[in-house]
Amino acid sequence: MHFNNASPLVVQINGNYLKLKAGYLFPEIARRVKAFKDANPEADLIRLGIGDVTEPLPRSCRDAMKSAIDELGTEDGFRGYGPEQGYVWLRDQIAEFDFKQRGCDVSAEEIFISDGSKCDSSNILDILGSGNRIAVTDPVYPVYVDSNVMAGHTGGLSNSGQYVGLSYLPLSATNGFKAPLPKDQVDLIYLCFPNNPTGAVASKQELARWVDYAKSNDALILFDAAYESFIQDEDIPHSIYEIDGARECAIEFRSFSKNAGFTGTRCAFTVLPKTLRGTTDNGEKIDLWSLWNRRQSTKFNGVSYIVQRGAAAIYSQEGRAQVKGLVNFYMENASIIRNNLSECGLEVYGGEHAPYVWLKTPEGMESWEFFDFLLGKANVVGTPGSGFGFAGEGYFRLSAFNSRLNVEKAMKRISSIYST
Ligand SMILES: *Cc1c(COP(=O)(O)O)cnc(C)c1O
Repeated sequence: MHFNNASPLVVQINGNYLKLKAGYLFPEIARRVKAFKDANPEADLIRLGIGDVTEPLPRSCRDAMKSAIDELGTEDGFRGYGPEQGYVWLRDQIAEFDFKQRGCDVSAEEIFISDGSKCDSSNILDILGSGNRIAVTDPVYPVYVDSNVMAGHTGGLSNSGQYVGLSYLPLSATNGFKAPLPKDQVDLIYLCFPNNPTGAVASKQELARWVDYAKSNDALILFDAAYESFIQDEDIPHSIYEIDGARECAIEFRSFSKNAGFTGTRCAFTVLPKTLRGTTDNGEKIDLWSLWNRRQSTKFNGVSYIVQRGAAAIYSQEGRAQVKGLVNFYMENASIIRNNLSECGLEVYGGEHAPYVWLKTPEGMESWEFFDFLLGKANVVGTPGSGFGFAGEGYFRLSAFNSRLNVEKAMKRISSIYST
């Protein structure tokens, strides 16, 4: 305990927050868009930038949530606190449809329902030690990096914009946006497939390489599968547990945000196999499931009954058809974006199994230069690749989350820049 009578009373802050990069990506986009709108009040902007869904919630989910509200209004149907891990009827559906039916050995007990995988992927650090060597891809979903900075797992920001102490695995067109295995030994590896921002996917063999690495190095993979429902090819794995041995080395994060449009409704889940082990300071092996169960029971009070009923409806026959409809709709948008940009002579990646198209900026433009160019010439807002990391410089992300009308309008405008 720190106790010092001599010092004046002060509230100490978590100084790690001061290491965070000041100009965060989305505020900077908002700043530039606002400046543009102020100068061009007539401009009809189309936003293909932030990764939020645009289509309404599936009917089955809405019906289930309405019934749940009415149930809560009755003597018999009222419910207070639910289980911190989530209701078993939802966890059973997930275990059956997302795992057993794909040949994965995951039980309902190993599934923890939450209010989002953004929170889960950062909260997981609560149960992990502070001495782990951590690998992230570059470009990367910024939450993985920033949550480690906040937890004090890194040094400061280097001149290249990378944090000291993290192992960055560079992605580029040359390696097909598939991360190389770390050169130095690491203990924690963040992987996201289908990938945000590049749209890349990993085959069974590629994931097996990671599982082998993790098992032979006693490492833990944090696998983010938020976009698994966008996979169009039967042979691409949806879950890391489709790989033999993953139950000994991987935690998986899933979310209903992107497949069923729950970004505002909030529901996700994390899978912690009971076979996962971590090591204490004196070398003892401890199971991670118990630690996470303890963490959730102490710091979390569950997702609302109404929302969990809505999520369970995703697994009904109608629900599955409606979610498929949403995914197909966004994937048609992605295909329109891919085709149009290719016809413009741009180099495009992703967009085949993910709602993101990742493009090489033309003529060696920097990411922010292309952002301003696209905003000025086409009134289209995208996301600069450099915002996702040093190696994202020279790339740009366009999202398929928008109406068909807006996507077609945006593509027409971009095409007209390149046809002249
Ligand atoms: C959108 C997204 C999620 C989902 O986050 P929620 O908190 O569940 O809405 C998770 N990971 C990545 C990489 C994402 O882009």
